Amino acid sequence: MSLENVLNRIDATLPEAVERLLALLRIPSISTDPVYKPACAEAADWLVAELQSLGFEASARPTPGHPMVVARHRGPGRHILFYGHYDVQPVDPLSLWARDPFDPELQDTAKGKVIRGRGASDDKGQLMTFIEACRAWKAEHGVLPGNLTIFLEGEEESGSPSLVPFMTENAEELRAELALICDTGLFADRQPAITTALRGLLGEEVTISGPNKDLHSGAYGGAAINPIRVLARIIAGLHDETGRITVPGFYDDVDELPEAVRAQWQSLAFDHAEFLGEVGLTTPAGEAGRTPLEMLWSRPTCEVNGIWGGYTGDGFKTVLPAKAHAKISFRLVSRQDPLKLRAAFRAYVQAQLPPDCTASFESHGTAPASTMSMADPAFEAARRALGEEWGMPAAFIGCGGSIPIAGYFKTVLGMDAMLIGFGKDSDQIHSPNEKYDLECFHKGVRSWARILARITG
Ligand SMILES: [Zn+2]
Repeated sequence: MSLENVLNRIDATLPEAVERLLALLRIPSISTDPVYKPACAEAADWLVAELQSLGFEASARPTPGHPMVVARHRGPGRHILFYGHYDVQPVDPLSLWARDPFDPELQDTAKGKVIRGRGASDDKGQLMTFIEACRAWKAEHGVLPGNLTIFLEGEEESGSPSLVPFMTENAEELRAELALICDTGLFADRQPAITTALRGLLGEEVTISGPNKDLHSGAYGGAAINPIRVLARIIAGLHDETGRITVPGFYDDVDELPEAVRAQWQSLAFDHAEFLGEVGLTTPAGEAGRTPLEMLWSRPTCEVNGIWGGYTGDGFKTVLPAKAHAKISFRLVSRQDPLKLRAAFRAYVQAQLPPDCTASFESHGTAPASTMSMADPAFEAARRALGEEWGMPAAFIGCGGSIPIAGYFKTVLGMDAMLIGFGKDSDQIHSPNEKYDLECFHKGVRSWARILARITG
């Protein structure tokens, strides 16, 4: 029983694994469009049958939306939960696809072989890397690896409405010691990576009201307060000259990056000049003294996403408006509490209002950041396993955006997650002509075999 045998089997049976992925890709499981509801159920059933054939106790569980696939194998060692999603994005505009998005094929391209079709990378190809690793393991060892739950969602691309209720209702069954999430990518398209920090979000809409109706600036200008002027002053004050956010208490729960992680980020091949150059910029605009990757992955932000008021149509109108509005969002990190910061932001605005002005607020959502506790030895074990497979060191990286499932695993089930994926930025997920590099699929399967060998008891 050696890992080498499992890896050799993965290599030898790659064509069959690709055929199975193509079969799953032929099912048009677009979750957002009710027309495809039967296809979503078909994809869930297809996966249940595959998992049962490997020896999992598997079923498709009904929800008010699309079914959840839950598969269990009780074995020795730590209970590990694997997450992926079987639903896909819509395919329009169809005219931009070179072939039917649900008639997938293996293609030769100038950059190597690719699996082409909707879902090839996001996330059917990725979830099958794990299932194929389990298959090869079972074939060599006679049993599935360790103590596993596989949890596959069918609503990820449509906002996951059933996810939290399902997880809450089935918490006992789903709670494991660690989660694996396969829905991310390589770093810079080539370096294996484990995402350990995801930023949270706070969205606020603010309206400043002054006079009880729009006024003429000839009749009232000078004597009447202009809400746009008030709003502009408040917004301009949200950052100081060093790029720091001025809302009181904003940084109270922001942790400094561990030195080891900072050093790793410094060693990543990240070209900030190129990163900014692609969008026509030259100079990082965040906090002074921070690297661009720190700004993106480990520091909070405040951005004005929209601002309006008065007259903005053709021509000109000398209006002194009654109201001014802005949409403002904050990306949050480490232990920042979105509700606490929402209150702090609102108090900050209120405190700066001149006489005769009032502020009202509308919330556009809150989500805490998730930062994984890397004290779990599985993180280092997985990093080494990935390094062996890809021939270059794997990195612990951050993510400037949010991946809600990772946060839910923490808040609902109390477990940390390792986000490990083998996608590339060039995969065109959510766009026409989505693809998955055959090499990424193949090495993805091998990677999971190596990781399972190290982290299952
Ligand atoms: Zn996805």
